[in-house]
Amino acid sequence: MIKKITAIHGMHDCLFPNTLIWKNIENIIENILNNYGYQEIKLPILEKSELFKKTIGEDTDIIEKEMYTLFDKNNNSLTLRPEGTTGFIRAIIEHNIYSKNKRFWYNGPMFRYERPQKGRYRQFNQIGMEILGLKSPYIDAEIIIIINNIWKKLNIINNIFLEINSLGTLKDRKKYIKELIFFLEKNSHLLDLKDRKKIYTNPLRILDSKNKNIKILLENAPKLYNYLNDKSINKFKKLCKILNFMNIQFTINNYLVRGLDYYNDIVFEWKTNDIGEGTSKTICGGGRYDKLINNMSNDKINNGIGCAIGLERLILLIKIIKSLKINIKYLVDIFLIPMENNHILKKILIIGELIRNKFPKLRIITSYLFKNLKKQIIEANKYKSHFIIIIGQKEIDNNSIIIKNLYLKKQIVIPENKLIFYLKKIFH
Ligand code: ATP
Ligand code: MG
Repeated sequence: MIKKITAIHGMHDCLFPNTLIWKNIENIIENILNNYGYQEIKLPILEKSELFKKTIGEDTDIIEKEMYTLFDKNNNSLTLRPEGTTGFIRAIIEHNIYSKNKRFWYNGPMFRYERPQKGRYRQFNQIGMEILGLKSPYIDAEIIIIINNIWKKLNIINNIFLEINSLGTLKDRKKYIKELIFFLEKNSHLLDLKDRKKIYTNPLRILDSKNKNIKILLENAPKLYNYLNDKSINKFKKLCKILNFMNIQFTINNYLVRGLDYYNDIVFEWKTNDIGEGTSKTICGGGRYDKLINNMSNDKINNGIGCAIGLERLILLIKIIKSLKINIKYLVDIFLIPMENNHILKKILIIGELIRNKFPKLRIITSYLFKNLKKQIIEANKYKSHFIIIIGQKEIDNNSIIIKNLYLKKQIVIPENKLIFYLKKIFH
């Protein structure tokens, strides 16, 4: 006997009817993205490791410890994608399909070797959007408007809040980091070991700390805002104006830095307090990556912006606050029950195909259990079926069909040639 094999820690199966809820949410989001003229792009899950190593930032959590890297038979180093933006940029450049004003979205699994907990997994899914070649903060605002509309449609707008910040240019950040390191060195005795290590590798990440004492300490730390150049400040102010004009609520969080190195200027995150305490409260995050796209495209493209929604965290929130009414009263519309007999089975095949053809949206299942009728009805109920159709020898002999409404517990016998007419009345 083979020992029971389980799924990998932090990687989860999604079972029916959760798949139904999942699909529903994806459809709502994808429809809104299509509605704004964004085009879907499907990208490989496995990429060359160097793609991520050269772009995400050596000292980020992702590159330092979260990559799923493996070697193929030729000893090439490959990595399961930890995020979508870098693969997207690679594809755009590789296929030379860059044009200003074009917008894209993707939907798929990402992989990070993190410590699994509620809302944090090793395989998780993101729906992301990316736009290249646009400078104006109107496009930053467009992304925020779209995501806001998604929250409205999903009925979670009151359970989620938007924070924005500007990181300025890389040059501004370098100047600031010098001062920040100076401050942190002076106060290193107040930091825990983990944060102390970050002083020289990724000091900005300390700003993100959830530790209360560090938060108090940081109140006296130099503020990135004071190191920004005029252009960045103006862009940020303009974005704030557009958001105010569009009545979108936000707060400015000067400590918001994001986990990846490649961002500049405007960054944003939507968080919730309704999926529990801890680090996993960000549902969606994004920002500008002008320098990254500029480097990857050899100066051909100068602007890029994007964001990604974490689907598992979003679904967790939707379930906790019960914001979506997804009808799962019936999971099957018609449960077809033939009695075991060649003649009857052929008839049920024909009838099944006929109904599916006329009613392509109905969920129709044919039972091949060949148990007695009582047991089959129990089975149909287990499947959460609305109607059952029964055909036995008697029905074959007089060209009739039995239809039973399992909810109302009512059954009628109709002539076979009236079946479609009758079903049209029920499922109009
Ligand atoms: P966090 O600070 O929560 O680790 P992040 O900054 O690493 O997030 P991004 O890389 O910006 O996250 O990814 C965007 C979104 O993807 C996050 O806001 C979150 O909803 C989701 N996400 C990121 N990592 C995970 C994970 N390990 N498990 C589940 N969802 C995740
Ligand atoms: Mg992370």
